[in-house]
Amino acid sequence: MDNYRINTKCVQGGYRPGNGEPREIPIIQSTTFKYDTSEDMGRLFDLEASGYFYTRLQNPTNDYVAAKIAELEGGTAAMLTSSGQAANFFAIFNICEAGSHLVASTCIYGGTFNLIAVTMAKMGIEVTFVDPDASEEELDAAFRENTKAMFGETIANPSLEVLDIEKYARVAYRHGVPLIVDNTFPTPVNCRPFEWGADIVTHSTTKYMDGHGVAVGGAIVDSGRFDWMAHKEKFPGLCFPDESYHGIVYAEKFGMEGAFITKCTSQLMRDFGSIQSPQNAFYLNLGLESLHVRMERHVLNGQAAAEFLQSRPEVEYVRYPGLPGDKYYELQQKYMPKGGCGVVSFCLKGGRPAAETFMKNLKLAAIETHVADARTCCLNPATSTHRQLTEEQLEAAGIPAGLVRLSCGLEDKDDLIADLEGALNAL
Ligand SMILES: *Cc1c(COP(=O)(O)O)cnc(C)c1O
Repeated sequence: MDNYRINTKCVQGGYRPGNGEPREIPIIQSTTFKYDTSEDMGRLFDLEASGYFYTRLQNPTNDYVAAKIAELEGGTAAMLTSSGQAANFFAIFNICEAGSHLVASTCIYGGTFNLIAVTMAKMGIEVTFVDPDASEEELDAAFRENTKAMFGETIANPSLEVLDIEKYARVAYRHGVPLIVDNTFPTPVNCRPFEWGADIVTHSTTKYMDGHGVAVGGAIVDSGRFDWMAHKEKFPGLCFPDESYHGIVYAEKFGMEGAFITKCTSQLMRDFGSIQSPQNAFYLNLGLESLHVRMERHVLNGQAAAEFLQSRPEVEYVRYPGLPGDKYYELQQKYMPKGGCGVVSFCLKGGRPAAETFMKNLKLAAIETHVADARTCCLNPATSTHRQLTEEQLEAAGIPAGLVRLSCGLEDKDDLIADLEGALNAL
């Protein structure tokens, strides 16, 4: 599929049926697989042959969809996980252990922040958070002897900062660690972080990739370009024998293209079991088949909503990297010339009561703890996800009480704007 454009890869990537085989990806709803001899099965357990034996490790439906995502990102290998949270945890834990250190951007999804700052801290993995806009010198200063990876989000959820991927990649390279980028918001249709030097990409496929709000899921993709053996002592799990697989050295046996995902599957999926169900992988593939068509409309609607909101006196400010004048406009132009995504943040002048009245008066946009699907939805962090914070704490966290996060769906943009207008007029 390498010669085809991204739109074609969305539709036909991954699964390529042979003569007389099903046109659509078959859902292999089977926990286990049959073998004629125990020698055959033994070779799978020794990682001497590739094949299926138990769906907790691998399932053909999932592998077809993972292969499509690898092609979309331009990577060499990929795997699906049960959620975006599992994807980020696995991607980091595959190379970190107790005593390791991570450098991460502060501008990341709240769930990932908690995962890294609280839960992984309990496992003995330390983190230094850095401003996404920090200079290279400041980023350099965050590194330690035991730093194993650098982490950021292409477009941060929900605050919409755009990551300077090339800058982060340069710094990570200098310190001999991979750059892991969560590419959930733009999707590979609008940004491919490997083209800018990232080494590993993660996704919450729950968002635009599924795009219809039907299945929670995640994915990890490897660029195949990080030279683990060149930094052997930093990555013993990849570069020294794995006693739980008869002394296999992943980086030697599977090379740069395959080591990361093979280890992640055969150790972490085996031990933690956060597999995506084949049924959900099938839904995910349906979403992927129209991803390129939908992203264009999400961006169109997001841009139109952002421009409309900016023109209204009730609105204090609008955050949308597609707006000229936005702090991240230039970075988005560079990394995402086709636009970023359909999520817009804006702050109403009247604070919490204004946000409440505004949202109550929306007719098309529903109030939901979700983003990035076909139906427009919105959320006021102050009265929902950040409800326990005081007004002062909200201000300090950069989430004023009047802030609304609007995820523009696929409806007609004029109807969406009329909906926003009606709700603003009620203020
Ligand atoms: C939603 C989200 C996650 C978490 O994904 P789940 O599928 O909800 O587990 C991680 N990163 C980003 C950027 C997200 O938007």
